[in-house]
Amino acid sequence: MTEIKNLNEFEALLSDHTGLIVIDFYATWCGPCKIMSPIFEKLSQMDELESVKFIKIDRDENLELIDKYSFTIPSIPRFFIIKSNKNGIEIFEDLGGTQSKTSLFEKISKYLDSGSESQKTEISKENQIQTNSKHKPKVAIIGSGPAGLTAALYTSRANLDVTVFSGLQPGGQLTTTTDIENFPGFWDTHNNKGKSGTDLVETIRQQAEHFGAKVEFSEINQIQYHKIDSKNQFVLTDSGKQKHEFEAVIIASGASARYLGIPDESKFIGQGYHSCATCDGSFYKNQIVAIVGGGDSAMEEANFLTNFASKVYLLHRNNTFRASKVMLERVKKNPKIEIIANVAVKDLVGEKTLDHIILENTIDGANLDLEKLKLDEIDQNRYKLKLDGLFVAIGHDPNTKFVGNLLDTDSAGYLIPQSRLPKEERTSKYDSATKIPGLFVAGDVEDQLYRQAITAAAGGCRAAMETEKWLADQE
Ligand code: FAD
Ligand code: NAP
Repeated sequence: MTEIKNLNEFEALLSDHTGLIVIDFYATWCGPCKIMSPIFEKLSQMDELESVKFIKIDRDENLELIDKYSFTIPSIPRFFIIKSNKNGIEIFEDLGGTQSKTSLFEKISKYLDSGSESQKTEISKENQIQTNSKHKPKVAIIGSGPAGLTAALYTSRANLDVTVFSGLQPGGQLTTTTDIENFPGFWDTHNNKGKSGTDLVETIRQQAEHFGAKVEFSEINQIQYHKIDSKNQFVLTDSGKQKHEFEAVIIASGASARYLGIPDESKFIGQGYHSCATCDGSFYKNQIVAIVGGGDSAMEEANFLTNFASKVYLLHRNNTFRASKVMLERVKKNPKIEIIANVAVKDLVGEKTLDHIILENTIDGANLDLEKLKLDEIDQNRYKLKLDGLFVAIGHDPNTKFVGNLLDTDSAGYLIPQSRLPKEERTSKYDSATKIPGLFVAGDVEDQLYRQAITAAAGGCRAAMETEKWLADQE
């Protein structure tokens, strides 16, 4: 793998290399980019992809190159599969966000010149995780956030055969934030400040791998449970339709960012409308942005956005805030942030990218200072606010689609561990167990209340220890 530092180096490569080139556009401040880096490195070392040149390009340092070759990079990381030709380059694939190793491998293989179709299929098959009869994995962990990786650390130290399925966000939600200040023991004692969320999950992953856990960068689409001759069996189907068998499973699939659900929303995603300020904030240097929400995420991200934007509006549908006092105070003290309370975003407007939004009062008589806030009144209740970018930080939905009807959820969609059931309804002595024997849950996917890295990690520990005990009970 090569780091391309400037346009000259890129053009030299284009003239030298006639085969496929895969580019990883990254930025030094981007958490998901750090997570993708080892996956990209592993791909570059695969024998099957020997003829492919893998290059990394720092997006912030190479705007001239990006401009000249018309790469469109609305968010990072971004991967391009290209080939040089006499007119410049031909782009085969343009892939945004974190990718699994298998899916990137498959996409690259599709464009390989050498090898017949059947050979390619063989290669692809080899790279799927196959259930091996000699070495049957015992425990699957779905999710690679603090809950899943802590569960992997504990189960692998307990000498179980552990496979973690990372999902599309390896490392989980912490990779979308900057520094963590409240994970005990994870503190920069020299500078008296927090440390990177990505580094925290990366370290737990390395710890778990050291004790034998295998991390597969793929997503689980379905989970089935069978009882065969009084033995439990779980069959997990991944996004490549491969099936994997396990005796116990820990679901630690966390939660995903929520969007507003307003008209034309999808048209603007990545084009002025974002759910991750840490990932996309730097696109708005000296511009005007807004963030929606009243929780800790909105406060943290509003402050973060002031590193780039000239002005940040914090838009909240209420005038009371879920955010902790300390976080709210930081926002109030930040001279670049303007809070507008009691408003809802009703519409996103623009040609190709966002131009302005329509705000509506959520209470009568909101009495906003239109001049100070630079709001154009449409009528008594609605305003136009000109913006370059809009971010949302309005909470998350638990990732449970792959569970289907196997387990019950509460009214907000969270999975229900035994600990949350009344005594008479419990079917297992283990707190993190579910109604299905051998199926355990941990982290944000079952916890609407605390949703912290430390509670997720603690949940992962509990589920792992209970899984180990439950497996021992079966012997
Ligand atoms: P997640 O971190 O959500 O991880 C879920 C994992 O499951 C991901 O790896 C995902 O890829 C995977 N997955 C999902 N579906 C599938 C599937 N079908 N197949 C396979 N894998 C799947 N907490 C703090 O304590 N301190 C902070 O400073 C802090 N800052 C935060 C900042 C932001 C912007 C956000 C959004 C949250 C923050 N939190 C913080 C909360 C913290 O990140 C979460 O509580 C924690 O990450 C939850 O961990 P988890 O492992 O349960 O789930
Ligand atoms: P949250 O606490 O659930 O807050 C979500 C906010 O979004 C609420 O203010 C809510 O408004 C608003 N909202 C929800 N749906 C909306 C919609 N459709 N339109 C407009 N507004 C909407 O979520 P979070 O801020 O992501 O925090 C999640 C967890 O992570 C919390 O436990 C938090 O403490 C933790 N976290 C911690 C840190 C830290 O400690 N540094 C940083 C970030 C997050 P209402 O209040 O009106 O319902």
